[in-house]
Amino acid sequence: MHPLDEFKRDMTGHLPGLLVLFDIADAKRRNCHLGHLTVDKDIDEMNELVRISVGPDGLARRVGGDEWLAIYKTDSLKPFTTLLGTYYREQEIRVGWKATGEKDGSVKVAERIVSSKIIRSLRCIYTFATSVEDAGVSVEKLLDHNYGLPPNIPIPLSDIADIKKSGWSCVTDYPVELPFCPFCEGRDFTWIDGDSSVYSGWGTCRACGANVDIVGVENSI
Ligand SMILES: [Zn+2]
Repeated sequence: MHPLDEFKRDMTGHLPGLLVLFDIADAKRRNCHLGHLTVDKDIDEMNELVRISVGPDGLARRVGGDEWLAIYKTDSLKPFTTLLGTYYREQEIRVGWKATGEKDGSVKVAERIVSSKIIRSLRCIYTFATSVEDAGVSVEKLLDHNYGLPPNIPIPLSDIADIKKSGWSCVTDYPVELPFCPFCEGRDFTWIDGDSSVYSGWGTCRACGANVDIVGVENSI
């Protein structure tokens, strides 16, 4: 059975209560910079913390990659605002890019790296649900609206329409300059390969013909 269906099945007995969605904000970028082992640990830790947070009368289940649904058998926001604070973490990193160019047998390197912070934070939307039918409808709305909302503050589902959706990055700073060709500082490339990382590409500089390989650089401090 899909975890979401399990959650819906198990809601009986836990209502009325506060129905809450948690999501590790910008987890994809976190994964890019820190690797999947770190994000796996984030997920394990959240599984444990949310289970403790809902208490014996509550219900919590991971229903997607980095998404959880929970029911708190209370009308107080305190337990899950506490969880947001417990889960929040700032980590200093140095982040940027390195471009290695090769032309006529010579190699040149350009790089830009800045001090930055990577933030682990939960997006959180909630609503009060009185019955299983009521909660069933709300679950779908919570999942539908889980994008573009600022993390680390509990947002009532009823306020969603008034909140401006925008991209939030878990990395506070990147180098001002985008990657360029180490030979001519051009930024116009014919790409041959690359992946979905923040900085990734292998191609040819259209201005000077150098082969340029761009990779992301990230170091914990
Ligand atoms: Zn060039």
